[in-house]
Amino acid sequence: SKEKIALFTIFGGTGDLAQRKLYPSLFKLYQKGYLQEHFAVIGTARRPWTDEHYHQVVADAIADLKADPATVTKFASHFYYQSHDVTDAQHYVTLKKLSEKLDAQYGLQDNRIFYLAMAPNFFGTIAQHLRSESILTTNGFNRVIIEKPFGHDFESAKELNDQLTATFNENQIYRIDHYLGKEMIQNISAIRFGNNIWESLWNNRYISNVQVTLSEKLGVEERAVYYDNSGALRDMVQNHILQILSLLTMEQPVEFTEKDIDVEKVKALRSIRALKPEEVATNFVRGQYAAADGVKAYRHEDKISPESNTDTFVAGKIMIDNYRWSGVPFYVRTGKRLADKFTRIDIVFKRPVLNIFNHDDVRENGDAKTSLESNVLTIKVEPTEGFELRMNAKAIGQGFATNPVNLNFAHDSAATANSPEAYERLIHDALNGDATNFTHWQEVAYSWKFVDTIQKYWDEHTPDFPNYRPGSMGPVVADQLLAKDGHEWVYKQ
Ligand code: NAD
Repeated sequence: SKEKIALFTIFGGTGDLAQRKLYPSLFKLYQKGYLQEHFAVIGTARRPWTDEHYHQVVADAIADLKADPATVTKFASHFYYQSHDVTDAQHYVTLKKLSEKLDAQYGLQDNRIFYLAMAPNFFGTIAQHLRSESILTTNGFNRVIIEKPFGHDFESAKELNDQLTATFNENQIYRIDHYLGKEMIQNISAIRFGNNIWESLWNNRYISNVQVTLSEKLGVEERAVYYDNSGALRDMVQNHILQILSLLTMEQPVEFTEKDIDVEKVKALRSIRALKPEEVATNFVRGQYAAADGVKAYRHEDKISPESNTDTFVAGKIMIDNYRWSGVPFYVRTGKRLADKFTRIDIVFKRPVLNIFNHDDVRENGDAKTSLESNVLTIKVEPTEGFELRMNAKAIGQGFATNPVNLNFAHDSAATANSPEAYERLIHDALNGDATNFTHWQEVAYSWKFVDTIQKYWDEHTPDFPNYRPGSMGPVVADQLLAKDGHEWVYKQ
């Protein structure tokens, strides 16, 4: 049977993440039979809710899925609400009793998953109490799933990690990076290690540069307070972008297993060339959006200081010092209020060394090009999920001009509609004890160390903000970053 057996305890059970992501994901796992009779969920937070009210909240959270009411009622009956403050030791005594009762009632075999859907400053307290109040079991598994952000810099991340590892072993800690749960991010390994053509070209002899773009259309919305204290570099580069980079650049793992992949990802992250403070300005640029067409400037958004120097955009050039990648720039960019919402990776290959088609006859025709276009392999992560490959082919007609043509593959929308959403996949992985698609501590540590140098330099130098127009692809400095290397962004507005 594919049924998984566990008690989930969700800290922050009344929160936004729980309602928007966790309850729908658990329900999908239920519909697919991964969760059946032998599971229960304890939702805990400060509000004094009854179980009946909680069932209604869960039902509302999955209303969009349009399931039949009897299934929803049955699913929701597995949910129990426990009101308490996580900083209060008494809370855990009640929680322990309820956990043991549900374990017996549903036959949960002492398997426990603790989902910390709360602000990270509570993680330490929760972990410590789970141990001191003996909520961890000895016979089943105990796993903790935690949310981003994992620290604010290396020091705070280390402190947080020390607090967690006082209770849990590294192999019990599941640090969510939801990009790792995305179909096309997981596809990076499939195309690299499943195709001789890509694996043989995947190095500095054939690749000119690589571009990773995580573009958002919206502004800060409800996360203003958190975001203003974080910025794009910490919010997106330290985690998602560097994780994607490690998957693009790592060596082939011995086997496609959590342990082997982690070893290679850590090596890749360690190989990133650390920036010296004086190199930051030439390798990383930042931006903050101005006002335009009825859109407020970042500094005039709700709860944001009019003097805020927070980066809502970042673009950078990352070099990797090893045999495979020496000399290949990895350009990354992310920002808010950009032209569109999408994530894509462009692998730009080197041009053919000469263009034999560029002889006199063709030139007289007026359509010859002095050099051929680069081949570009694009991994479209979202919203379209697929690949695109640009190559040069003969233009139709007399003469011998060449034109770039695109080979396009997109997963069909019916298949992707059925594909699990990132959170669903990741919760399923955690139930299976598979942390392949989670971030491990060494990865977090190296990522923060790289980012800290940039952040520190930025904190010490006042930017000239605002510097980009909402609906654009960021400030001009982001284009100049590539132009000075003789490159340009593949995706332009
Ligand atoms: P939220 O503010 O909506 O929910 C916080 C929850 O914690 C609430 O249930 C609240 O009652 C509870 N809580 C707060 N203080 C408490 C206390 N002392 N004792 C008991 N309960 C307490 O936050 P959220 O948006 O759901 O985010 C939760 C976590 O997930 C955060 O770490 C956040 O950074 C992360 N995260 C959220 C999203 C998202 O889409 N919402 C995305 C990525 C990461």
